[in-house]
Amino acid sequence: MRRRPTRRLLVTAAILAVAVSGCGSSDPAPTASDLPSLAVGEIPAPAQRSPSSTAPAGSAAAASASGDAASDDSVSDDYADPSAATVVVNKRRPLTPIEFTPADLILPDVPLATDGVNATLRPDAAKAVEEMFAAAADDDVWLTLVSGYRSYPVQAATYDYWVSRNGSPEEADNYSARPGYSEHQTGLAFDIGQDDGACTLRSCFRDTTAAGWASANAHEFGFILRYPEGRQDTTGFLAESWHYRFVGTDTSSAMRSNGVETLEEFFGLPDAPDYG
Ligand SMILES: [Zn+2]
Repeated sequence: MRRRPTRRLLVTAAILAVAVSGCGSSDPAPTASDLPSLAVGEIPAPAQRSPSSTAPAGSAAAASASGDAASDDSVSDDYADPSAATVVVNKRRPLTPIEFTPADLILPDVPLATDGVNATLRPDAAKAVEEMFAAAADDDVWLTLVSGYRSYPVQAATYDYWVSRNGSPEEADNYSARPGYSEHQTGLAFDIGQDDGACTLRSCFRDTTAAGWASANAHEFGFILRYPEGRQDTTGFLAESWHYRFVGTDTSSAMRSNGVETLEEFFGLPDAPDYG
């Protein structure tokens, strides 16, 4: 793929990538001295609810219930299997098993804003990332991969870091997922940056060229913006204009064409504003 020869950003990588993101956002970004320890924190008891009986038109759940044409077999409704591209992970739906590890992880061949630590993805997601970054480059938009897969212990350290930094779990829960509850642990989620490092993992990233391009085009490669603006009551997290999630093109296209913003709505699952 095309590569921009200059300005390949190397942020204190693992630190930024690990310490930040509910991905988990950071405003401001932490410094090297903020490095969290890698001790595994306490694990909250999983809290799950049964799926609601209502689902919006155009969702997989509605299609499944009505048996209409939208219930195309190509659109998976497997939101419970952690190995499925359509698994739904949120504050009411921890990974099962909670220390789930993807069977295969690879480092995508794209510009990294880190040193490669915590930048791997599942092969299907990695391939789609390579395709998306190449398409962006063709439009003179230069994306970087800031953070990909994070293991259970790494997420535990990330969450502990934010709790210690902000003094309370309640505050940290707005932008950092507890271990076992992070999409990053699926190997399907990643955070993008812009190659000049503008607003990396910060709310102002939404105004960058990179964020605008991704918002308009990511669905063509099987991605969705997982934490849209104003949807914290459903997703559990503040808006993250950098956090994308691979679901496959069938699902991303179906969501886009039907105006469905969140996986919770698409599958007719309960809102997940908190850990319940
Ligand atoms: Zn993220």
